[in-house]
Amino acid sequence: MSFVPYGRQTIDEEDIKAVVEVLRSEFLTQGPQTPSFESFVASSLGVSHAVAANSATSALHIALLALEVGPGDEVWVPAITFVASANAALYCGASVNFIDIDPSTFNISLGDLEIRLAQARKERRLPKVVIAVHLAGAPAELSRLKDLSTSYGFSLVEDASHAVGASYDGHEIGSCHYSDVAVFSFHPVKIVTSGEGGMATTNNDELARRMARFRSHGITRESAQFEDKQQGSWHYEQQSLGYNYRLPEISAVLGRSQFQKRREFVQKRKEVSARYRELMPDTVFQTQLANSASSHHLEIILVPSEERRSLFEYLRSHGIGVNVHYAPVFTQPYYKSLREDWGFFPNAMDYYERAISLPIYPLFDEGMQKQVVELIKGHKGSQIIF
Ligand SMILES: *Cc1c(COP(=O)(O)O)cnc(C)c1O
Repeated sequence: MSFVPYGRQTIDEEDIKAVVEVLRSEFLTQGPQTPSFESFVASSLGVSHAVAANSATSALHIALLALEVGPGDEVWVPAITFVASANAALYCGASVNFIDIDPSTFNISLGDLEIRLAQARKERRLPKVVIAVHLAGAPAELSRLKDLSTSYGFSLVEDASHAVGASYDGHEIGSCHYSDVAVFSFHPVKIVTSGEGGMATTNNDELARRMARFRSHGITRESAQFEDKQQGSWHYEQQSLGYNYRLPEISAVLGRSQFQKRREFVQKRKEVSARYRELMPDTVFQTQLANSASSHHLEIILVPSEERRSLFEYLRSHGIGVNVHYAPVFTQPYYKSLREDWGFFPNAMDYYERAISLPIYPLFDEGMQKQVVELIKGHKGSQIIF
């Protein structure tokens, strides 16, 4: 078997044609493609605004800036996520605290969150923002999170990097039915790709305006927003300290072409996921909430901790690109350098000792999948029940 990655993009001739057309066109940046991608995403999801950026990391950063996160503020993030979710808060000068995960959904634990919120209220250090991550594409408990955001007065941001095409209670992720902002990633390993790229969606006009401004140097060209209304039509204003986080036109057109295929991609992934569960009926998989539909970005299984390393190395040595998503963020050397003791996260620690991500992507065919499962089952000395 040649190398099987844990995930990979699906690019067709239509995608290639769209990109080539842009290369032959007038604009490689700041042309019509980015607004067209944004309005396509917004209308597909039924959300008021979509603001494209050159990565989900940038999109998270401008989302937090637009929510006026800064020094003295706290942002709370689940302990198991990609480092970018937490880094975005640090970019704003805010501090980060972590919340433990639920042992079966692997998403933010509402129980742990409630305990920490009650404590933080007493200590008068409530978070300004809580970031919920839909790990592996399985939606977090958005309706309870929304209730908590109302009672404790924090803003709710969804890091939906894994969750393009997922839904919760009939609302597609990104519609912001429960949250202030949702952020997608279009990295090639995610559900749909623009090469590199991200998108922040919101139903709040002012947040959308601020995010668009932070994406492009803090500059606005909307005359209605100008402080100085006497200038000629050359005039633009820098109103805050922004960045260059713009998405190139080539990426925007690819993103649009891909985004319209998200349902097909998710359907294929769903089939792969169902087949794993059928072939390995006694294995511990991620649990989904009953009222939700995952995008199946990752297929994470939990194995006995004393076997994880040998199974992982065994599969890698046979060309299977298994992975571990993720170590608790606070175990990273950088986070350890910020603070010695981040607290007690028993579920996140246990998860990290047992997790393996198996290959899953739309073009992962059944024959290959069966070979991967045979390898897992044949792993020497395996005590894992499959
Ligand atoms: C991939 C990912 C990001 C960052 O996405 P980029 O587009 O690569 O910046 C952020 N959060 C999570 C959970 C991710 O998986």
